[in-house]
Amino acid sequence: VKNIAGKVALVTGGSRGLGAAIAKRLAADGAAVAITYTSSPDKAAAVVSAIEAAGGRALALQADSADPVAVQAAVAETVKVLGRLDIMVNNAGILAIAPIDQFTLADFDRTIAVNVRGVFVASQAAAAHLPQGGRIINIGSVNADSMPFAGGSVYALSKGAVASFTRGLARDLGPRGITVNNVQPGPVDTDLNPAHGPFADSLTKIMALGRYGRAEEVAGLVSYLAGPDGGYVTGANLTIDGGFDA
Ligand code: NDP
Repeated sequence: VKNIAGKVALVTGGSRGLGAAIAKRLAADGAAVAITYTSSPDKAAAVVSAIEAAGGRALALQADSADPVAVQAAVAETVKVLGRLDIMVNNAGILAIAPIDQFTLADFDRTIAVNVRGVFVASQAAAAHLPQGGRIINIGSVNADSMPFAGGSVYALSKGAVASFTRGLARDLGPRGITVNNVQPGPVDTDLNPAHGPFADSLTKIMALGRYGRAEEVAGLVSYLAGPDGGYVTGANLTIDGGFDA
């Protein structure tokens, strides 16, 4: 029997990058998986096809994490189509980089709306459905604890909020047997942070392992938290960063 056979997961931002790898991994572990996306219907459909080709069940839903009504509708649709909700993965996130004198209020508001308010809205909507043994897994960032370059202050702020929200929410949901954790990746090769992008050399230099992470490596930690072995971990901020913050 697979690790999470019969469970249903919802992964926000599952059309590309970390979210796509997490969706595929949870499906391989036995869950039926819904993903959200904003602007890449083709890539979302490709993730669904890949899961179905491997014998799994998947569903793609367009829902901007900055839009509370859309996020609530995605949770409701997941429960309606896939029958239940056991694992909520708050992965969708954006990165706006600019020095403080140039950071626009619009970018600040958008970062908070997606990276912070979207996590709150999805968690609240999911919590109404999660059973005993349920899971909320946030994808924060090592930048909550360590921001070794300029221009990332607002991103760090947003991921610090995710880390603190995780601790508090674990207290709210612990009595119901639901765990809440935050996975904090370091640099992982995705469209958001390409391993050969403009920041790559400076980032690689400060990592103990001297290389970018792979999305599948982060998905492995999410898989652990989602499964039965992760049942006693809650309120934790788990860093997976190749020694970026060592
Ligand atoms: P990508 O930019 O590669 O992928 C982002 C995914 O999220 C896409 O599927 C995208 O959908 C979706 N998305 C973006 N904005 C929204 C939105 N407003 N509503 C719903 N979905 C949205 O990012 P990563 O995979 O690299 O990042 C995923 C998470 O991991 C983020 O929270 C990020 O902060 C975090 N992280 C990433 C690190 C890295 O080095 N890559 C390091 C630490 C943390 P669409 O295809 O439709 O645009």
